[in-house]
Amino acid sequence: MPLRQTPAYALRCYPLGEADLIIVFYTYNFGCVRSVARGARRVRSRFGSAFQPFTQSELVFFEKEGQDLTRVASCEVARSFYESLLTPESAALAAYFAELMTEFTVERDPNPALFRLISAVFEAVEGGIPLPVAARYFEIWMLQLSGFLPLLTSCANCGTQLEAARWAVGHPPEFVCRECHRQFAGSRLLSPAGTALLKEILKKKPQEVAEGAGHDAQAVHRLATVNRLLIRGHIGKELRTVRYLDRLRRGTRKLRFHAASPTSDHPPSGRSIAH
Ligand SMILES: [Zn+2]
Repeated sequence: MPLRQTPAYALRCYPLGEADLIIVFYTYNFGCVRSVARGARRVRSRFGSAFQPFTQSELVFFEKEGQDLTRVASCEVARSFYESLLTPESAALAAYFAELMTEFTVERDPNPALFRLISAVFEAVEGGIPLPVAARYFEIWMLQLSGFLPLLTSCANCGTQLEAARWAVGHPPEFVCRECHRQFAGSRLLSPAGTALLKEILKKKPQEVAEGAGHDAQAVHRLATVNRLLIRGHIGKELRTVRYLDRLRRGTRKLRFHAASPTSDHPPSGRSIAH
């Protein structure tokens, strides 16, 4: 069996039998890979912390004939973001990113830009950027790199050029103009500030966005609402971890995450920003 080697991020783990784990990796060379690690649940596992969510490792795996799951031969930690993922809200966000990754990617379809996105966002989180900004950055680029970010320039319904604001609709996920949006139930406004934030995300690094348009909590919140609609429109369901983030936000109001939750449907101030 040929050994395959690649940089990889662990996304999720599932127990297998008494001692083993199935790990879902996002790898640089092969995209999403599911692999069995023998003995990984034992106290003195030779894999150490390599399977903690979003730990970057050098993964060596091999295929077993006739089996969908590959086998981990070795997995050496290259970089851990463990310290920055210790709070409940950052751990919830990591789980949300992992679910987004598994919903938006298919196995063995490598996309190195997506791998670099993970690195860029977690480095920024480690550097202290606000989690809601990190969340918006990850969502927009996940949509963009998967080919599902709607056209920003013109209305998907009538073709009119879109100005400072646009409305998002869910089925199919598109942006439409002020005149057309009433035809679509549940459309959401992306305000001029929210639009500016989106465009900045497409041009700049996470840290630069946090220091620029990401300062505007209303814009971050508005983009959160729109991203949620676009993501739900694309995958056809609400993500499980979004509901967890909702519960976390309601249960822990002191968290900074609350200031501009990625999941709430209402502006945090209660002030109308519909127009
Ligand atoms: Zn239109």
